[in-house]
Amino acid sequence: MIVSKFGGTSVGTYEAMQKSAEIVASNTDRTLILISATSGTTNDLVKLGAFGLDSTSQEETIIRIKERHLSIIENLENASEVESDFKKELTDLRQHMEQVARDKRWKDRLLSFGELMSTKIFIHVLKQNGVEAEWLDAREILKTDSTFGNATPDRKSLSKNLGKAVKDNKVYLTQGFIGSDIFGNTTTLGRGGSDFSAALFAEALNADLLEIWTDVAGIYSTDPRVVKEARPIKEITFDEAAELSVFGGKVLHPATLKPAIRGKVKVRVASTIEPEKPGTLIVHESSGKPVVRALSLRKNQTLLTVRSLDMLHQYGFLAELFKVLADNKISVDLVTTSEVSVSLTLDTAVNAANKVELTNEVLSELSTFCEVEIETDFCLIALIGNDLTKTAGISGSLFNKLKDYNIRMVCHGASENNICFLANETDGEAIVKLLHKKFIER
Ligand code: ADP
Ligand code: ASP
Ligand code: MG
Repeated sequence: MIVSKFGGTSVGTYEAMQKSAEIVASNTDRTLILISATSGTTNDLVKLGAFGLDSTSQEETIIRIKERHLSIIENLENASEVESDFKKELTDLRQHMEQVARDKRWKDRLLSFGELMSTKIFIHVLKQNGVEAEWLDAREILKTDSTFGNATPDRKSLSKNLGKAVKDNKVYLTQGFIGSDIFGNTTTLGRGGSDFSAALFAEALNADLLEIWTDVAGIYSTDPRVVKEARPIKEITFDEAAELSVFGGKVLHPATLKPAIRGKVKVRVASTIEPEKPGTLIVHESSGKPVVRALSLRKNQTLLTVRSLDMLHQYGFLAELFKVLADNKISVDLVTTSEVSVSLTLDTAVNAANKVELTNEVLSELSTFCEVEIETDFCLIALIGNDLTKTAGISGSLFNKLKDYNIRMVCHGASENNICFLANETDGEAIVKLLHKKFIER
């Protein structure tokens, strides 16, 4: 059994949907298909849900969403029927937009329109390609807690619900990214969360293979948009791929690989544009284990430094600090400590899967027991590979290359699969190009 996920660009136009549908039709083992919103739509919906958008920009955004979808629908054999359903959906969207201003719980409902619209159209493209799929509402199957914008899925009920909904020898189409809480409110799994949904569904179904179809031919040695010499990786271990996704390789949502590892599901990342290319296979044991396999770059990182004058020889300070962060569901990436201060990095990128918002409440809670300093505009760069804690000279050759740059934080030793550091955001791409040349293009 194969679970296949198609990302935003793979369903962004009629031509893209057609290519994706041909891929689905080419192998009858593809049982469950999850798709994202058409590319650009979730960003537009985020805009619509933000406060203070004037009515002209609001209208322009809605028109953009409408035209993007109508330009796909007009190619369908039953265009007029699908168009009238779509227009009803759009009216519904407008109503929800008004509600977001009153209650932020409605925000996730607003975001869910992207995936709901794309699946309601794609089902017809599948049909035109001979695939009679059944449409499933992911919100009835994927139950989550009520953390809107970054909900935690409930695995137990997922298996049960899927078991009831999915029968042998049929094909199902559903939405990535969305679920609902026990009260029936729509929730979302964080930006880019369709990969995570697909992995959870694959685990729950005991699938043999999870396919992530995207706009690049697999996982590359680094983001091919940043380094044109980047090349696709044929085979990568789960450990390396997990580090890469956590440290910013946007190609996979950071939580994707855990369910796949638990469920012993193989994962393949491939391109809908060039489906004939092998893509990347993520495996438990890889034949080659290079010291540096890939590089990742994550921008918009914030550095939070807290100092306590009482910290000298005090115990419990770190526990208190991390309790405030945990209570506010703030996830921390790098940490360095000295006797009287602690520095932490937070992912504050707009589209981050685990976007951190340092609210005034968090800051005032922290300031009851420490001094707080916030600095922005950093980037996090990671070297991903194998045996990095055991390879003599690796940090020497890395930092020798970086001698012209200001490096603010370094984390080496916690994982044998990565070394990472914080640099000025404006230097990020130049550093990645330099390191790619040194460690990968050799
Ligand atoms: P989708 O909509 O299919 O989920 P995403 O835009 O979320 O696609 O992810 C694919 C993008 O991830 C690529 O277009 C590429 O720019 C970016 N990316 C970042 N790092 C890597 C990497 N190491 N390998 C491949 N793609 C990467
Ligand atoms: N559509 C959602 C997003 O853009 C989820 C996804 O694409 O994976 O974040
Ligand atoms: Mg994605």
